[in-house]
Amino acid sequence: MKADLMGQIDAMKKPVQVMVDSVFSFGELGFQEVETSRYLTAILEKEGFKVERGVAGIPTAFVATWGQGRPVIALGSDIDDIPQASQKPGVPYHAPMIEGAPGHGEGHNSGMPLNIAAAVAVKKVMEREHLQGTLKLWPGVAEELLGTKAYYVRAGLFKDVDVVLFAHVGDNFRVSEGPGNQTGLVSVEYSFKGESAHAAGAPWRGRSALDAVELMDVGWNFRREHIRIGSRVHYVITNGGDQPNVVPPNASVWYYYREADYAHVMDLWHIGDDMAKAAALMTGTTVTSRLLGSAWPGYFNAPIAEDMYQNITKVGLPQWSNEDQMLARALQRDLKVPERGLAMKIPEIRKPQPATDEENDIGPRGGGSDDIGDVSSVVPTVTLNYPSNIPGGPGHNWANGVSMATPIAHKGVIAGAKVQAMTMLDILTRPELVTQAWDYFRNVQTKDTKYQSFLRPNDQPAIWLNTKTMEEYRPKMKALYYDSSKFDTYLDQLGIKYPALK
Ligand SMILES: [Zn+2]
Repeated sequence: MKADLMGQIDAMKKPVQVMVDSVFSFGELGFQEVETSRYLTAILEKEGFKVERGVAGIPTAFVATWGQGRPVIALGSDIDDIPQASQKPGVPYHAPMIEGAPGHGEGHNSGMPLNIAAAVAVKKVMEREHLQGTLKLWPGVAEELLGTKAYYVRAGLFKDVDVVLFAHVGDNFRVSEGPGNQTGLVSVEYSFKGESAHAAGAPWRGRSALDAVELMDVGWNFRREHIRIGSRVHYVITNGGDQPNVVPPNASVWYYYREADYAHVMDLWHIGDDMAKAAALMTGTTVTSRLLGSAWPGYFNAPIAEDMYQNITKVGLPQWSNEDQMLARALQRDLKVPERGLAMKIPEIRKPQPATDEENDIGPRGGGSDDIGDVSSVVPTVTLNYPSNIPGGPGHNWANGVSMATPIAHKGVIAGAKVQAMTMLDILTRPELVTQAWDYFRNVQTKDTKYQSFLRPNDQPAIWLNTKTMEEYRPKMKALYYDSSKFDTYLDQLGIKYPALK
């Protein structure tokens, strides 16, 4: 059956390339993945999945379901992209398709195509072999904002799910077990309200909300030295006023607080709230705050991860061509990182990492977050990293988009879909795997740590975010959407010779 799955997925090279290139060309920011959602759900409906749209009050979220009974396997992957990361694919230096526009500078255009290929292949085997089970596909909307998965959990999307297989782009195959590879986070925006006045004529009558923002930031920048090493606190000013001759009556600053676990994230949030109140007192302004996103630290299921790792070693890395390697090395040269080309060796499975050095109160080793952490806290979950990216990129950057509509991404997705499909088959045919997964979840993972959402009852998904940016860029981006009826690949449509070396 596994050999059959591999063959079926190899036969899907064309539709996979079209899906990966199409989503790349949509290039949509978090909560605005309108074209992407429409496109993916249409494909899933054509493949016989029943689609529920707008789940958890999020317009671009959906769940596509096929099959019946247990086990229930839910496949997820993110679909949003990065501000100002527009980049011509196959070009190993900074070359935006549209200056200032968003782009897939992480590679979230590849994960749902991977899941769809895997699900379509497994569905065929299930039909033929009369295997019982339910497949559910769902997108990570606004992952770059840590914006939705806690709401999915709150809405009960994973209530009856046995196992979640999440896919996330990487520059090699990788799967982790246990805790310690992702930090937890809350994303909070503070809005200060003062009083406007003529900045030269009657400044004493004004109360500057911008002063409060700056004082809060200054407070944090002094406080940094006195929090645990590895805590991460970063901000952007989302509203700094209108023009210098008007004392800013409104100003806002947006913070991410990252730490190893729930309690330490909450500590940072409390310090931040104190800073905001203090800044308001200093400036005679008032302050309100709202939660824009959150993520629990990830905790990945060991039995499923070990099974997936076996499948990774069976599938192996893609066969890279000379052109693929030339593109990779040219990009690495441009980025001034070692010119080691594409991944040639699969790393060991990543074992549980001690999240923190509690004895010395050192804190996490820094690093990113993903709201898959919330999902992993309520149902056995693993994340499959697959090799569609070029090693050495800084992340959240145009450089991480260079490979994402080229043969490198397409091959990585095909290889990843095989691993995903084989792991699904193991879950469908070996009920003891699900039992072991839940045993680990109940008796190891959640033995001492109980999930407690960062969301408060009145918090709602920040679905308005990125509206203006997409309104500005979408008309120009539309002209560059991939037309697979006219062009074999997106590179062809853009007139890019692969690889486009300098
Ligand atoms: Zn991501």
